[in-house]
Formats: sequence, structure tokens, C-alpha cells
Amino acid sequence: MSTPTSFTFQQIGVVHSCYRQKFGIPRQPGLIEAANGRIELLAPFNRMDVLDGLEGFSHIWVHFIFHQCMQENWKAKIRPPRLGGKTKVGVFASRATHRPNPLGLSVVKLGAIYQEEGRVYIDIIGADLLDQTPVVDIKPYLPYADALPDAKGGFAPLPVEVKPVRFTPQAEQQCHSYLKHTGRDLQSLASQVIGQDPRPSYLWGTTGRIHGNQLWDANVKWVAYDEYFEVTEIELGES
Ligand code: SAM
Repeated sequence: MSTPTSFTFQQIGVVHSCYRQKFGIPRQPGLIEAANGRIELLAPFNRMDVLDGLEGFSHIWVHFIFHQCMQENWKAKIRPPRLGGKTKVGVFASRATHRPNPLGLSVVKLGAIYQEEGRVYIDIIGADLLDQTPVVDIKPYLPYADALPDAKGGFAPLPVEVKPVRFTPQAEQQCHSYLKHTGRDLQSLASQVIGQDPRPSYLWGTTGRIHGNQLWDANVKWVAYDEYFEVTEIELGES
């Protein structure tokens, strides 16, 4: 019998995340602690027994599908944002979203595991995942095997530098009111997302332009200055 060369996976879950658009999602997990989300297990995997024992781990690997890139083709060489969009590397030397198989892999902090209204959820912290991302597998993170402190980081040895984010009094007030009504700390999330400078590399170094990040159901408007970014206004509703 010959070995199969193409495979079909079943979706086991779906991500519910604060990120409603790709713009602003960090390039890797663990960079934004305020990014709370959850994975909902889907039938026939929506049962608590498949998660027995997982509560003893602090982190999990989430295998997922880059579902919003599936209509676009992959390329053999890509320009990682980390290299300023100028230098190309091979697709398999990168964590690019456009790949021959649209598979993503993120390690995230594990929160509560629970049932709510008959549905099974896993809270996750610090994910780099778009809302509605299909999940195809979950595995515990094993520190003894997965943590490699001496590993080399190639062209991405360290996280990007984070810039300070200020809020106008109006934007700060809007964040307080959002927290009061939803329980969501939009101010911390927006600070961490914008502080990483999510702009495409050709805009790095430019100032004065207004940008918007959709976080939960809030559109966070901000302006870039040389030394800092400033959040000017929060518009409620999906953009
Ligand atoms: N940690 C994962 C990995 O290494 O496979 C993802 C890395 S990838 C560079 C991270 C980017 O994927 C995010 O900045 C976001 O724009 C994009 N992304 C996240 N979820 C996605 C989805 N469901 N479909 C398409 N793009 C997605």
C-alpha cells in the first residue's frame, strides 16, 4: 500500500478572539498578555473528557488554519516584516501566513477549561489568532522538550521594540466606559497592540496619519508620532 501524499483534517474547534481583522494581530503569540480569547470545541469533540489532564499544563500548542489566506497563493520567497519588507527569505524559513499548506502553530497560555450553556471552552491568553480561526489540534506544551533556551533565532532573534502609547482624555474616558459596560480592558489591549507598531514597513517612520484597529467591537483610532503613538478616539461597532 502506498503512503498517502494528501491528507484531510477535521476542524476540532473555533477561536473566539479580540482580533476582528488581521491588521494589528501580533506576529507571534505571547507578545500581548491582554489578548484574551477562547477556543470552543466543536462536535463531536465538544466534550470535557477529551481535555482530561490538560489543566495540569500552563501552556498549549494550538494547530490552526490560516483561513483568511486560503484564497491567495503562496510564494517560494517572502519578505518578512521583521526585515523591513526589503529582504526575501524562503517560505519555509519564515512563519508567513501564505504557505503551501495553510497551517499555523501557536503556543498560548492556558486559562480555565469549562462548560457554558452546553458548550466546551478553553480560555487562552496571548494568542496571535484572528476571530473565527479554525483549530485542528491542541497539544500540551512540554517545557522539558519544547523550551530550548540555547536555540538560535535567525533573522528574528528578539521581539520587536515596543513604543509608548498615550491616550487623549477623550479616548481614556471611552476606554473606562467600555470596561464598565463589557468588563474588557480595551486600554491595556490597545496599548499593547499599537505599541508594537502594526503598520506595514513602508509606513514605518511616517507621522501624522490616522490608523484604526478593530479590537472586539471597538475601532481604536490612533496617530503615530516620532517617539510615541497616541490613541485619539474609540468608535463602537464593527468597521
Ligand atoms: N504563530 C503562528 C505560526 O507561527 O504559525 C502564526 C504566525 S503568523 C506570522 C501571525 C499572523 O497571522 C498574525 O499577525 C495575523 O495577521 C495572521 N493570522 C492570524 N490568524 C489568522 C487566520 N485565521 N487567517 C489568516 N491569517 C491569520
